[in-house]
Amino acid sequence: MSETKHVYRFGKDASGNDVTEVAGNTVDEAKYVVGGKGANLAEMAKIGLPVPPGFSITCQTCVAYSSAGNVWPEGVLDEIDEARKDLEERMGKKLGDAEDPLLVSVRSGAPFSMPGMMDTVLNLGLNDVSVHGLIAQTENPRFGWDSYRRFIQMFSNVVMGVDSDLFENAITSLKLKKGVKNDTDLTAEDLEKLVAEFKDIFAKNVDVKEHPEVVVDGRAVFPSDPYLQLRLAEQAVFGSWMNERAILYRKQNKIPDDLGTAVNVQVMVFGNKGDTSATGVAFTRNPADGTNERYGDFLVNAQGEDVVAGIRNTEPIADLRKIPALEEAGNELYHIFEVLEDHYRDMMDIEFTIEQGKLWMLQTRVGKRTALSALKVAIDMEREGRISKEEAVQRVNPEQLDQLLHPQLDPNADLEVLATGLNASPGAAVGEVVFSSDDAVKFAEDNRPCILVRWETNPDDLKGMVAAEGILTSHGGKTSHAAVIARGMGAPCVCGVEALKIDATKKEARVSGTDVVLHEGDVISIDGTTGRVILGSVALVRPELTGDLETILEWADEIRLDPSRGAVMGVRANADNPADAQLSRDFGAEGIGLCRTEHMFLGERKQIIQSFILAESDGIKERALGKLLDAQKGDFLSMFEAMDGKTVIVRLLDPPLHEFLDNPRDLAVELAHLEDKGAAKSEIAEKRDLLRRIDSMTEANPMLGLRGCRLGIVYPELTDMQVRAIASAAAELKSRGLDPKPEIMVPLVSTANELAMLREQILKGVQEVADKYGMELNIPVGTMIELPRAALEADEIGQYADFFSFGTNDLTQTTFGFSRDDVESAFIPMYLRKKILATNPFETLDDGVNKLIKIALQGGRTANPKIVCGVCGETGGDPDSIHTYYDDGVDYVSCSPYRVPIARLTAAQAKIAANGGAISRDK
Ligand code: PEP
Ligand code: MG
Repeated sequence: MSETKHVYRFGKDASGNDVTEVAGNTVDEAKYVVGGKGANLAEMAKIGLPVPPGFSITCQTCVAYSSAGNVWPEGVLDEIDEARKDLEERMGKKLGDAEDPLLVSVRSGAPFSMPGMMDTVLNLGLNDVSVHGLIAQTENPRFGWDSYRRFIQMFSNVVMGVDSDLFENAITSLKLKKGVKNDTDLTAEDLEKLVAEFKDIFAKNVDVKEHPEVVVDGRAVFPSDPYLQLRLAEQAVFGSWMNERAILYRKQNKIPDDLGTAVNVQVMVFGNKGDTSATGVAFTRNPADGTNERYGDFLVNAQGEDVVAGIRNTEPIADLRKIPALEEAGNELYHIFEVLEDHYRDMMDIEFTIEQGKLWMLQTRVGKRTALSALKVAIDMEREGRISKEEAVQRVNPEQLDQLLHPQLDPNADLEVLATGLNASPGAAVGEVVFSSDDAVKFAEDNRPCILVRWETNPDDLKGMVAAEGILTSHGGKTSHAAVIARGMGAPCVCGVEALKIDATKKEARVSGTDVVLHEGDVISIDGTTGRVILGSVALVRPELTGDLETILEWADEIRLDPSRGAVMGVRANADNPADAQLSRDFGAEGIGLCRTEHMFLGERKQIIQSFILAESDGIKERALGKLLDAQKGDFLSMFEAMDGKTVIVRLLDPPLHEFLDNPRDLAVELAHLEDKGAAKSEIAEKRDLLRRIDSMTEANPMLGLRGCRLGIVYPELTDMQVRAIASAAAELKSRGLDPKPEIMVPLVSTANELAMLREQILKGVQEVADKYGMELNIPVGTMIELPRAALEADEIGQYADFFSFGTNDLTQTTFGFSRDDVESAFIPMYLRKKILATNPFETLDDGVNKLIKIALQGGRTANPKIVCGVCGETGGDPDSIHTYYDDGVDYVSCSPYRVPIARLTAAQAKIAANGGAISRDK
C-alpha cells in the first residue's frame, strides 16, 4: 500500500464526537486534496455545524486513476472499503440492509467549483430488499419507492449513460394513462411499477460491452449489490472529470485539467419526507447586486437537485421561517448564515436540507457573484470591519470588472417592455432569438448576435450560452443553472419569465397576455440588470465608473501608488484619437503609453502617403508631406490637449509599407476591367504604371521588411514631418498656457546604430521647432523593444533611449517565429488543445519572451539608470501578465482604454501579492 492518504473522513462518530480528518492547514490548501466541497464539509464539521457524515476520496486519486486508463491505484480500494465500513459503524447502519439501510450520496467536488458540470448519484444503496427497510423505517411506502425510482434513474443516466428522457417519458406516459398532472399524484403502487419499468429500460439500454460488470447471463441487470453500486458510482464521478462539458467549462474558466475531482460519499438526508422536510440553496448576501440580505430559494418536500433543476417553482428563502413546521430549522439556518460569514469572512453559498424538522448543511463555499456584487460585498465587509482594504481589493476578480464596463440599455431609450423575469446576471444584450444551443452556435459562427431562449438551461447548453450574447429562460430561479452559469461568464441573463410559453420544436414562443409570438430570428433586447425583455433592438450604452467600482479602484490606487508599500507600477492607455484619450483619462490612465500614428493615416490620408511613397518628383513629395504635416499637427493638438499634463508617447510610423499602398491584386483586376471595356489609353497606362511601381515594392515578408524605424530611415522626410508635427503641436499648446508632455518613440529597432541615428535627427527637428517658437522643448526620445536582438542588445541601445516600451505583440511574433496575423486562427487553438502551449502567448506573456524582457530591463537600466520601462503590447492589459510585469519591476503597463480599470486593480493586487498577501481569485 502506498504512503499517500487517499481517503479523508468527516462528521461525527456513533457517540457524537467529531472525527473529521482535515486535508490541509487551511480550506484553500485542503481543497486541492479533497476538493472544494470536501474541504468545506470538513471545515463546517470542525466548527460544529450539522453535516451528514461521510468521506472524501482525493483529487490526486482521480488523477492517478485517469492517467492509468481508469484503473484504481494499488491499495486505494482497501482504503475506501475501510472508510465505508467505518461510516457504516459510525451510523450503526449498513448499505443494502433489509431493516434499516444506510443510503449515501456520491458527488463530485473539484478544487474549483464547476456547478452542474460533473456527476452526482443520490439514494445509493437501495435495492429490492433495502427499499422495504426504508419503507419500514419511514412508514412511508410512497417515499421509499420514489427514492428507489429516482436512484435507478440517476444511476442509469450518470453511471451507465442511459438517456434520462427514456425515464421521463415513462413517467409522463404513466401520468397520462392515469389522467393525473403532477409527479406527486402518483401513488406508491404507481412508483413501484415504475421501478420495474425503469429496470427494464436499464436492461434494454445499457451497453453490455461497455459495462460488463452489470451483465448477468448476457443481459444488463440493474446491480443490487450496494458495494458494486458504490464502486461504479465512484468510478463514474472520476470519469466525469473528463466529460466534454467539464472540459469546456474548465477551458472557459481557466481551470487546469490536471487537478482532478474528489468523490464525496455522504450519508443521505431527505428533504422529501413530507411537509416537515425541505431543501434549498442560499447565499449569505445577494450574489447579483451584493445587498446584505439572505438570498436563495427552497422547496418543501423535495429532494436536492429539484431546486436547481428548475423543475418546480421555488419559494424565496425569506419565507422559510414563516412555515410553522420549518420555523425552528429556519431559525437555525439564519444563525448558521452568521456563523459562516464570521468564520469565512466572505459571502457564502450554501446547500441545506431539512429532514423532518432537522437541519443539515450539505455544502458551503465562497459564493460566486457578479462584479457588481463582488464590489459591494468587498466594500461592505471592509466597512463592517471584517476585512482590510487590501483584502477588499483582492476580493474583486479584475477580469470580472469587464462586466461593469459591459453595455446597458440606453436609459433614454423609448422602450416597451414585453415581459419581465428575474434579473439573474447584469448587463444588456440585443440579438436574434434562437431556441437551441446548436442554433446559438450556428448564429454566432455567422456573426449573427443571438439570445438563447430556453425553458431552462442544463449543462449541455454551455456551448450555446457561450455563443449567445445573452440568455433568457421562462423557468427557474436566481440559483437555477442558467443564472449561476451566466453570472460566472458575465453574460446578461433574465430568467424565470413565466409569461413566455416556449415551443422549442416549433421554434416559437408565445408571450401570455399579448398577441406576440417570437420566432427564430426575431430581434429582442434583454436587460439582466432589471429583468426586462423588450421586443426589437434597444440602443446600448457603456456605463461610467461610479460608486463601488470607483471606491475599489481608489483603494487599489492608494495601495498601488504608495511607494512606502513597494514598487509603484503605473497604468497608461493605448489610444490614438482624442475620444479614446479622453475615455482612458476618465478610466484613470496616467498617460498614453502608445499612440500608433499609422492609425491616423486611414482613408483619405492613406492616399496622401501613397502619393508620397510613389512620387517620382520632389514637387509631388513635398506637397504630400505638407498635407500630412497639417493633418498630423491637428491630430496631436487634440490628443495633447485631451491629455494635458500627462505623458503621451507618440510612436513614429510603424506598419509595413504595403499597408499604405493599394492592393496590387485589386489593381490588376481594375486594369483588366478597364482594358475590357476599352477605357482611354492614358487611363490604362496610368494604372499600369501605378501597378508597376507598387509591384516593385512588394515584399515577400512584409512583417520582417520595410517597416518600423527602417521606414523612417529610408524616408527621413517622413520622420522629419512627424517630429515637426509633434513638436509644433506641443509648442502651440505651450504658448496657450497648457502643459503638453509628448515623448517620441522609435519602433522596431534592432541595432543601437538605428536608434542613435534617429535620435540625433529627432532631437535636431525638435530643436528647430523650439527655436522657431522661441521656447524650450523637452521631448524625451525612446524606443520599443520588440525584437529579440533589441532585447539582447539593450545595454547598447539603452545609451540612446530615455525610455523603453516592450512591444510584446512583435516580440512574441519574432521570439516564436509565429506570424501574429496568421497563427491565432491557424494552429494556436490546436496547440492549446494538445497542451503544446498552456496559454495563447499573444494574450498572456510567455516565459521565453519574459526572459528577453528581463535581459532588456537589466541591460537598459545598466546603460541608463534613469530609463523608464513600460509595456504596450496586448499583454499589458492581461491580469496574469501584469503580475509577471510587477515582479519583473516594469515601471508601467499600457493597455486599451477599457482595460485600464482592470490593470489598475491587478497592479494593486500584484503589489499585495508581492508583499506576501495571497491572492484568492475566485474561479
Ligand atoms: C507590439 O508589437 O507589441 C506593439 C505594441 O506594436 P504593434 O502592435 O503596433 O506592432
Ligand atoms: Mg509592434
